[in-house]
Amino acid sequence: MKILVINCGSSSLKYQFIDMENEEVIAKGLAERIGIDGSVLNHQPKGFDKIRIERPMPTHKEALQTVVDALRDKEYGVIKDMGEITAVGHRVVHAGEKFAYSVLLKEEVMDALKECISLAPLHNPPNIMGIEACKQIMPEVPMVGVFDTAFHQTMPKKSYIYPIPYEYYEKYRIRRYGFHGTSHKYVAERAAAMLGKPVEELKIITCHLGNGASITAVKNGISVDTSMGFTPLEGLAMGTRSGNIDAAIIKFLMEKENISVAKADEILNKKSGVLGISGVSSDFRDIEEAANKGNERAQLALDVYVHYVKKYIGAYAAVMNGVDAIVFTAGLGENSASMRSSICKDMSFLGVELDEAKNNVRGKETDVSKDGSKVRVLLIPTNEELMIARDTAELAGKAKK
Ligand code: AMP
Repeated sequence: MKILVINCGSSSLKYQFIDMENEEVIAKGLAERIGIDGSVLNHQPKGFDKIRIERPMPTHKEALQTVVDALRDKEYGVIKDMGEITAVGHRVVHAGEKFAYSVLLKEEVMDALKECISLAPLHNPPNIMGIEACKQIMPEVPMVGVFDTAFHQTMPKKSYIYPIPYEYYEKYRIRRYGFHGTSHKYVAERAAAMLGKPVEELKIITCHLGNGASITAVKNGISVDTSMGFTPLEGLAMGTRSGNIDAAIIKFLMEKENISVAKADEILNKKSGVLGISGVSSDFRDIEEAANKGNERAQLALDVYVHYVKKYIGAYAAVMNGVDAIVFTAGLGENSASMRSSICKDMSFLGVELDEAKNNVRGKETDVSKDGSKVRVLLIPTNEELMIARDTAELAGKAKK
């Protein structure tokens, strides 16, 4: 069984083609500049050099056609014909309150996803375009939607209801949804495997620290609270997003700077976070470098970032009445030993003791806490594509029976 996993952005299409026999990636790549001049596909088939294909891609349909052509190319193809694509798994950001699990993308599901566009105006439209392109190019192949919000649908109401007039929840479904769910679920399950215990018996805090960042309290295998909210703006300070701030700042800024709602939204989403504080970059590598050279605002940005993460770890340990493991994942969590070290510093009261020598590692599944640490600190590279492929294989298998 071979599964194509697709993740569409507004002008990009990222994919992995996975052989589920051994869960091996047999081709992967990224189509960029879709709908813009200079469309290009960078395709990496297993066992070959990277291949660059420049071809007009006015829509996601042409981009997907280019991917399919590359997969079955005479010279470097990994399949002979399209029939070898058993099913396609699509990453979809927002499924609202409708889906707590991955589902086959039937017409009624597509209608529900379209209803969620207002909740994720930047993400859902390109996700939907990708699905529709696939349906046109391979109408016979089963399609599965895997949602970033699904894992968090288990949160109790006290975690997802905001303290604003309840009618806004009833009228507009304003509530915490949470994101990065596929990643949080994957690393929580891996953590349980590493600890040799069923996930149902563990309290785990999963820290997905990438460009976007979120933290989840996973109790007995389910998400009981998460830092992102109605949108991916809430929670931690991020690369360019503010995370939690006093909501009154928005009105104050709009009046003082005479700016529109759209501009305020742009400032909070694109100009804030560690970029906003440091004035250096949204990339932690640049900020760490500047801080090491004595740039005080770069150091302040890192300090604020760490402070936010620590606060969530403390809060979620309180929410779960304890914690067995803290997991670090995504770009920063997997690669920055100094960030993991700063976050875990002075948390011995909680039973967290990082081993600096073990922590000197990158991108590898490993336990980086001291032997006697009550709370295990784990580094687990995330693999959202594999999760999507697994769900897709399972649902496509059931659909055939
Ligand atoms: P992601 O969104 O998961 O791809 O994470 C991307 C972010 O991870 C980048 O913006 C960087 O800030 C951060 N990152 C990646 N590699 C490193 C590294 N070696 N050291 C520090 N930060 C890193």
